[in-house]
Amino acid sequence: MDSPKSKPGRLTPIKKKGATSRAAVQSFFEEHKVKEILQDLTSDLAINQPADPKKYLYHKLANFFGFEPNNQDDEDLRSERTCYLRMHVECVGRSQTGRVHFIRRATMKDADNILFSAWEKEATALLHDVVAKATGDANGANDERSPTTENQTQEEILLEKIKILERENAELKKSLENQEKVKPSNEKETSSPSSNKTQDSKDGFKLPEIDPAFDRWLAEQLAASPPDVKDTEDFKYITFTELPPFTEKHQSLMRKHMSSELFERLKGVRTAKGYSLSNGMQAGVLRPHLGVGFTCGDQECFETFKEIIYPIVKGWHGFDPEAQEHRSDLDASKLVFTEEQEGKFRQYVKSTRVRAARNISGYSLPAGSSKEDRLAVEEVLKEAFGALPEPLQGTYYPLGSLSSEQEQDLQAGGFLFQKPGPMQLLGAAGAGRDWPEGRGIFHNEAKTVLCWCNEEDQCRIIAMEDGGDVKGVFSRFCQLSEAIKTAAEGKGKALMYDERLGFLGTCPSNLGTGLRASVMIVLPELNKDPKRLEEICRKYDLQPRGSSGEHSAAVGAKWDISNKQRIGYSEVELVQKMIDGVTQLISIEEELAAGGGGGGAPERGSGEDLAGTGGSGEGQAGESSSQEGFLSKPSVVTWMPVQQGSTSGAQEQAGGGGEKAAGEVMEGDKEASGKDGFKLP
Ligand code: ADP
Ligand code: MG
Repeated sequence: MDSPKSKPGRLTPIKKKGATSRAAVQSFFEEHKVKEILQDLTSDLAINQPADPKKYLYHKLANFFGFEPNNQDDEDLRSERTCYLRMHVECVGRSQTGRVHFIRRATMKDADNILFSAWEKEATALLHDVVAKATGDANGANDERSPTTENQTQEEILLEKIKILERENAELKKSLENQEKVKPSNEKETSSPSSNKTQDSKDGFKLPEIDPAFDRWLAEQLAASPPDVKDTEDFKYITFTELPPFTEKHQSLMRKHMSSELFERLKGVRTAKGYSLSNGMQAGVLRPHLGVGFTCGDQECFETFKEIIYPIVKGWHGFDPEAQEHRSDLDASKLVFTEEQEGKFRQYVKSTRVRAARNISGYSLPAGSSKEDRLAVEEVLKEAFGALPEPLQGTYYPLGSLSSEQEQDLQAGGFLFQKPGPMQLLGAAGAGRDWPEGRGIFHNEAKTVLCWCNEEDQCRIIAMEDGGDVKGVFSRFCQLSEAIKTAAEGKGKALMYDERLGFLGTCPSNLGTGLRASVMIVLPELNKDPKRLEEICRKYDLQPRGSSGEHSAAVGAKWDISNKQRIGYSEVELVQKMIDGVTQLISIEEELAAGGGGGGAPERGSGEDLAGTGGSGEGQAGESSSQEGFLSKPSVVTWMPVQQGSTSGAQEQAGGGGEKAAGEVMEGDKEASGKDGFKLP
């Protein structure tokens, strides 16, 4: 869709009081073709069914209008676009939950918003309609707010909002109390006051809308599927009786490599823990945009279903498990990080993070876990956390024990994951069942050592800190990895590890090292030309992400630059590649800042196949060319462009008010075409 403005990002601010009138809103809507945009977004939402429409739309709109919200910038705060986005966030928040959560977070929190209440209310009616249609959410239809009368004072509006907040809070409390009373002992622990605990379960399990014929087939398959003991109210495992009649939209490597013959041969097979071929395929069938399309429910899957997993691994990583072996090397002392590099990193890098997945043999992986296994994993991990050596010591917080505020704080800092939505990879694969039971976060006081429990993997280990001391962070990561291994072994358990595939995990895109070493780095010059940044990254096997995780925008020219590969290289090699690549980025940035052309860019061809055996999908030997016209190459570029000329500053995330939702879009989503970003249809 063409931009309604020739120059996005240059809309006229409304400053005058009278400008918040219905007429002003209408003319703004007309001038900027807001209705048309909303219509397009409606179909976009219906097609893509993002797990978090609020965030999805917010990014789309911000991208579309070339708008970078900024709480600190007064002028910006008063612009129509800000109002529009804020109001939009609020509106979607309400229609999603029928509750006050997002209003409090996105709007009431910020006193300045009150200035725009009138404007918001006007536009809310329209947007609300769109979102209600798009999400089919009945709550939206009961929005209590009435259109603003032009004579209403700001105080009246505020009072009215407060009343609504109070009433809704009271209702929420009451309903929670009731739930507590009727809840049978161990069951249905799916609701609690926190945002992370209340989503969807009451809605039951919903199938997506992909294509009418395919949807009918899917509904029939669901209806005919025998119940699975691990089914929950909000999730059903579907048993496919035949090879799914995939649509054009299905882009995954699973789809590509799953033949009728293979399907027929494996469809009746289950692992000892009961995970079937259908279970592994379910996310890829329900979520056509996924690039991998297969999840593992336990360790045995890697043998039982290797005929589908190996081609996927080969396609995604350019690594052939039949012919190659993976090596692990967690000796941080081998890293070469010169004084000069250290100096440059100190100057440019804001923070450093290294993470990987660790799973324990004998227990199912989250997509296939039973309650017993999930809780047993939590117990083993809790004991392991308790046994960590002194420098790594911290506290484990079960998700259910955190207050909403604590949870939000952790998410705002990029420390915590969110509940996977039903239409995200993890939700569609069954890894969100029984939320939040068995999930939690361990961290030390300084939050430089963290472990996530029972999210995409049984355990994600993370070392992070401010600044650019990559060697220090990697050393701590290695210590943590070793300590978790030792602690698990001390309990008679072993980590899931395979000679060919390295560390094993839920998603075949995260095998081998499963390691992502990233720096948050501010690159104002390169930020002016993200395509160039992307190209340079590709040459050095790096992956650029935005400043708040995968698929986010690089706000304030801040980029998350990490190694792209996961398997075929050791941990030391991957971190070294990151250090060396980022060193090059910095030197190009400096050349550009000095007025040069940044010609120091490497000479390796941008389309060149990755050297060696690694590579996470782009420019792969073998697979990539054959994927042309069939599926977009697996996502490498997982940033969302921000229009030039936008101001830097506070990150206003989907939730508004500067919240940052860690893991909202997980790498696990692994979109096949993330590179295209948030294109409007
Ligand atoms: P991963 O898949 O490795 O967990 P995501 O892209 O999902 O990474 O990001 C998870 C969270 O970690 C996000 O909030 C992101 O901003 C944060 N993050 C990633 N790298 C860094 C870093 N180097 N410093 C600080 N925060 C980071
Ligand atoms: Mg992630």
